[in-house]
This record gives sequence, C-alpha cells and structure tokens, in this order.
Amino acid sequence: MLWLSLFRYLQTENHELVVRQETSSAKTLMDIGTRRIFSSDHDIFRESVRKFFQEAVLPYHAEWEKAGQVSRELWEKAGQQGLLGVNISEKHGGIGGDLLSSAVVWEEQMYVNCSGPGFSLHSDIVMPYIANYGSKDQIERFIPEMSAGKCIGAIAMTEPGAGSDLQGVRTYAKKDGSDWILNGSKVFITNGWMSDLVIVVAVTNREARSPAHGISLFLVENGMKGFIKGRKLEKIGLKAQDTAELFFEDVRLPASALLGQENKGFYYLMAELPQERLLIADMALASCEFMFEETRNYVKQRKAFGKTIAHLQVSLNQEKETEIIVFVCVFLSIDSCNICNFHFTGGVRQAKPLDCFQRF
Ligand SMILES: Cc1cc2nc3c(=O)[nH]c(=O)nc-3n(C[C@H](O)[C@H](O)[C@H](O)COP(=O)(O)OP(=O)(O)OC[C@H]3O[C@@H](n4cnc5c(N)ncnc54)[C@H](O)[C@@H]3O)c2cc1C
Repeated sequence: MLWLSLFRYLQTENHELVVRQETSSAKTLMDIGTRRIFSSDHDIFRESVRKFFQEAVLPYHAEWEKAGQVSRELWEKAGQQGLLGVNISEKHGGIGGDLLSSAVVWEEQMYVNCSGPGFSLHSDIVMPYIANYGSKDQIERFIPEMSAGKCIGAIAMTEPGAGSDLQGVRTYAKKDGSDWILNGSKVFITNGWMSDLVIVVAVTNREARSPAHGISLFLVENGMKGFIKGRKLEKIGLKAQDTAELFFEDVRLPASALLGQENKGFYYLMAELPQERLLIADMALASCEFMFEETRNYVKQRKAFGKTIAHLQVSLNQEKETEIIVFVCVFLSIDSCNICNFHFTGGVRQAKPLDCFQRF
C-alpha cells in the first residue's frame, strides 16, 4: 500500500530512502538488514559482530562450558574489536555508539547460542554506573580498561537473604576515619569469579528512615585484602558463565572507593535497573529467534516415513510456523519500542507512548 510505504519512509530517522524488510517477511528472523529501528550502519556493525561470535566464541564455547568460565583472552579480543562499552561515551573512554549498537552485540551473542561471555552485564549494566555516577578519577581509571577487556566488571547486589527485595541487604560498610570497612557476602554474581572490579551494594546507615535511604555503592577491586571469591556456582544453564559467591571480611576501602554519593546507592539502582531488564528481554527474544530457526532448519531437513518431518502434521506445519513467527515478531516490536524509548528519551520511565507509535 502506497500510503503505508510513504508513512514508513517519513518515519525513518533521516528519511533515508531505504525499505527495510520486516522480520516477519524476511527469509530468517536473524537476517541482517531487517527491522526499521536499525540503520545501514548498524548492519555493517552487526556483520562484524556476527563474525566475531562465530569465529572467536562459538568454536570454544563447549570447552568453556566444561571449565565453567570463558577465557581471559576472549575479553581482550572483544575489547580490541570494540565490542565492550559500546554505549559508553568516547569522552569517558567507551566506544561512543548508541544503545541500538549495544543491542546488536546482545542479539548476536544469542544468535550463536553462547551464554558464557558476560559482556552485556559488563558493558551495559556495570559500566553505566561508573560513567554516570563515578568521579573523574574513577572514570579515567576504570572505563578505558573495561572497554579494552582488561578489567572485567561485576555488580553484587543479591545476598543469601536479599534477592527481589533489595532493601533486605545486610552487607555493611562502616566508616573508619575517611576509610570504610566492608563486611558481608553476595551470591549469584555474574562475572563474579573472573571479576577485576565489583560494584558492591552495602548498607551505610542502619538508622536511615527506610533501608533505601541508607545504601551506598562501592568499587571493590580484585586482590583487596579480605575480598574472597567463593565457588563458581553449578547451574542448569549458562554453564560457561562464572556466576560466583563473593565474601567481604573486613575489607578496608579508601574514601575514593565510594561510587557517587553516600546513601544514594538505592536511587542509582532504581535508575539503572530498567536498562538491565531491557537487555535481558532483548537477549531472551534473540534466543527465541535462534531456537525457532534451529527448529525450522531441523524439521525441513529431517526425514521420516519418506517425507521431511515439516510435512507431517505432528510437527512444524506452515500454520504453526506462521503462528510462532507472529508471536516472536509481536514481542520483538514491543521490545524494539522499549529500545527506541530508551534511545530517544533516555529511560523507560520517561518513555512516552507516542514514541512507540512514531517509531512503529
Ligand atoms: C544466573 C544468575 C545470574 C545472576 N547475576 C546476578 C548479578 O550479577 N548480580 C546480582 O546482584 N544478582 C544476580 N543474580 C541474582 C538475581 O538478581 C536474583 O536471583 C533475583 O533478584 C531474585 O532473587 P532471589 O533469587 O533471592 O529470589 P527471591 O527474591 O527469593 O524470589 C523467589 C521467588 O519469589 C517471587 N517473589 C519475590 N517477591 C515477591 C512478591 N512480593 N510477590 C510475589 N512473588 C514474589 C520471585 O518472583 C521469585 O519467583 C543472578 C541470578 C542468576 C540466577
């Protein structure tokens, strides 16, 4: 329909006369060059990211699953390739790309079905805290190293007694002159075993009018006396991900380890957690797309009773295939709306429904 094409053309950011195919009509859900939220620049980036995951990650992943962690070299390779800190500004030592470029990295990792590398947490959860709330010294010291893959980041919120209810955190940082003495333990920490730098959520004021008013964030470095890494946790999935327990026994932290302002930690968490949810949702969707394509390939190749199993009623017939594609695409649109809202308004909570409509 002419009016629809014109409408879509006018909706493109710089009015490029490019008709980007919808995912639903593309040959596969993972085709490069589809989805209107992405541009030709994103496509070029996606091609290089796809090559990276296919060549530097996929062939080694089974080995890393046995080891319960990926290699250090992988992190540095990813850094050299410009895949870490993609959405962190160049002036802070990041790559200076947009959030959609970060999304390209999240999705491409899922398209090779390799859950080991904790790049998304490092780049799009941990690094933003430092870039947004860190001092000049903290930014200069950590962000370039993190972009290079030489400093692996983690964030430690969860404790044996505090998960969904973050205000139940017990880890405590007590003032001692200008230093802090940190005691407590954390569990389920992504990148925990390999981490060089951990943002630790700790109570700093037990008398605050509510727990949320007495929480601060600290930058704790590997090798600090009293910072002990526990075991890598056995999990039913994410086998190559070094999720770990962490312990803090009288860890002496200098004043410069405080991230942002004292007792403002919970506010920072509330501001940053939406991006974490967004990337988890996008990665989960990308994972669904991968699984769908694997299934589609399988049923179209596998033969039984003289026919491919796609031709047998019990399996993926055309009707079912369409139904699943529609299901994935609907979620993809919702997800893309969220990415756009982040991209254009700076956060889910500021998102306006109109933005969704305008982009889609
Ligand atoms: C693989 C993996 C990686 C992780 N990485 C990190 C990390 O890097 N850093 C970090 O800090 N944490 C990490 N976590 C921890 C994660 O954030 C917590 O598991 C999560 O916050 C839930 O906490 P919990 O496991 O203690 O569950 P609980 O809080 O005990 O919840 C148990 C169940 O009860 C439900 N529930 C809780 N409260 C309510 C309520 N009010 N009403 C109804 N139902 C409720 C929950 O939805 C859940 O289904 C990771 C976890 C996993 C599994």
